[in-house]
Amino acid sequence: VAKAKAPDKWVRSTCGYCGVGCGMYIGVKNGEAVYSKGDPLHPVNMGTLCPKGLSEHQMVRADNRVATPLLRRDGELQPASWNEVFTHTSNTFKRIQEQHGKGAVAVVSTGQLLTEEFYALGKFVQLGLGTNNYDGNTTLCMASAVMGYKQSFGSDGPVGCYEDFEKADVIMLIGANIADNHPILKLHIAKNKKTRGRKPTIIVIDPRKSKTSQMADIFVPLKPRSDLALINGLCYIIMEQGWEDEKFIRERTNGYKAFRKHIMANYPPQEVANITGIDVKELYNLARIYANADAAMSAWTMGVNQSSIGTDTVSAICNLALITGNLGREGAAPMSITGQCNAMGTREFGFTSSIPGYRNYASESDRREFANIIGVPEELIPTKRGYAYPQIIDAINRGEIKALWVVATNPLVSYPDQNGLREALKKLDLLVVQDAFMSDTAQIADVVFAAATWSEKEGCYTNSERRCNYAKKAIEPLGESKADFYIVKEFSTYFEGKHDLLFKELHTPRDAFEEIQRVSKGRLCDYSGMSYELMEELGGIQWPCNEKAPKGTKRLYGEDMPCPTPDGKAQLLPVEWVPLSEMSCRELPLILNTGRTVEQFHTRTKTGTIGILDNLAPEAWVDLNPKDAARLKVKSGDRIALSGNRGRVENVIVKVSATVREGNIFVPFHFNEQLINNITIPEFDPKSFEPNYKQCAVQLHSEAVP
Ligand code: SF4
Repeated sequence: VAKAKAPDKWVRSTCGYCGVGCGMYIGVKNGEAVYSKGDPLHPVNMGTLCPKGLSEHQMVRADNRVATPLLRRDGELQPASWNEVFTHTSNTFKRIQEQHGKGAVAVVSTGQLLTEEFYALGKFVQLGLGTNNYDGNTTLCMASAVMGYKQSFGSDGPVGCYEDFEKADVIMLIGANIADNHPILKLHIAKNKKTRGRKPTIIVIDPRKSKTSQMADIFVPLKPRSDLALINGLCYIIMEQGWEDEKFIRERTNGYKAFRKHIMANYPPQEVANITGIDVKELYNLARIYANADAAMSAWTMGVNQSSIGTDTVSAICNLALITGNLGREGAAPMSITGQCNAMGTREFGFTSSIPGYRNYASESDRREFANIIGVPEELIPTKRGYAYPQIIDAINRGEIKALWVVATNPLVSYPDQNGLREALKKLDLLVVQDAFMSDTAQIADVVFAAATWSEKEGCYTNSERRCNYAKKAIEPLGESKADFYIVKEFSTYFEGKHDLLFKELHTPRDAFEEIQRVSKGRLCDYSGMSYELMEELGGIQWPCNEKAPKGTKRLYGEDMPCPTPDGKAQLLPVEWVPLSEMSCRELPLILNTGRTVEQFHTRTKTGTIGILDNLAPEAWVDLNPKDAARLKVKSGDRIALSGNRGRVENVIVKVSATVREGNIFVPFHFNEQLINNITIPEFDPKSFEPNYKQCAVQLHSEAVP
């Protein structure tokens, strides 16, 4: 660091972008964040950061920060006091709830708050506002993993850890472009050969030849959304050949008989070859390599989750691991990689799909136990989960939900079928956005709560390997913005009796953390043995952490740890592949796949103002196979339009590239100027409610070149 810019102090913290959870130092000079660097002692990243982490300090004082609360007056958002925005919002919420019922107010949050903030927000929404129509944008990315883990193991919770990438014989990446989306994980794969003395076999399964495929020993370019059939086909071959782990199946699983019958009746290799486009010989090769590994790890992200059969695809991956005994040992895990920095925190303690501590709304004993621990009447705890995110949007469209409070997410870029969404949002009486950045959604809000961001507040994030990392406050919040914890706590004082009931003892995030510890004690996601100080000392701690495991737990469901099911066994589930609902046709001959690029994060509210990142990826592009490009008479650098059954996107630059199969295209979703979610399909997994972002039919218009 040049001397003139040298920070006055370095504050140890955690990256606030993705679910890898890298340890870092924030350089502070004159009360401002001026530098970001990796923490060399942190076990996740060992000193390295990706481009987003390295430039993270630059987003803290970006031009699009919201420095004061805003209230729409005379059609324009204008600065207002906290009292004005809280009074206006609370009065409107109360009026709507009196007229239309508690559920007429809904809340959509995020995976980017700190766990203490999720806890405070969920507690206020569910027990204070009394609406259970509360969900997170995590339903757009992780919900299928949550439901798949619940189906297979009895609870949510990633079962493995990053060290498993270092210890596995076989690493199967399926629908996971880690080179772009979780780049630091490559360090753990790179350590594998050094750790074991021999190279692992890396299998990359993806319809698109992403950057991650470059590290593959075997690349499997299957047809779009045929992954579930592929995995079922591998299970068929493994059972046909007698390669399964009979002892593990007998002692650690239920349901083998029905599972085997289903697979052997429906997924013979030739059938699977027809569905996937992968020939029979290669299917046998893959099955042999996976089944005969001493330890096989499978890892997946959005390619699997963001599908209308995402939940069952997750369970198919778990089935494959279970029949081969790849669970609870070094290098052996079916591992979901999370998207946002604290998608896990909201899953554990956010009051969305479960009561904090992975408790069930439907369970009377879970509700009673939770109410007793936090000292509230049991009747306050909802007896069922309310609407999930897509159901909230549908209910707005029907006129059932009248007010929406959006926290740290930007549906006006990220939600599928934007035209449908815009029509729904117009029907609201009140749209409140709580965000640190003036997002597309904040711009159409009636009220904006100005939130502090990363480095301006303290608390913890849980990463993809259940590692709870401490993020320390380094600087004061910008202007009048406040940490989300304090926004919620103060807002609760505008609702009679709610603050004293819910937050009287919670003065700071640390108090919330201690309540979380009490709530989690004895549960799978046990934080009772943790502290901020221990997290700092160890570089995060993996739950469960308690008296028995004072330094945390690397892996779930080893021999000494039963699954949280009635008999402690995992479930082998017969799951069914379902073809795409929207196939390509004469009018719409291409299948659109959407995804991300390493330089940008989500809807660019944070990364879009960082020059170095935005210069590297300033706009969307479309990857087009050379044969399609020749047929359509376009070349790299041309600007085209795309359209589908729901909308259109203009002015997208062409990259002719064999990375996509013929008949398939890829467009990144980050960019509001070329809003690809105008076209994506509002089709959702019926179990997780996760959208099917990865496949819909489109056509290309080369005449749209300006
Ligand atoms: Fe941050 Fe993720 Fe990059 Fe690590 S890999 S520096 S957590 S964005």
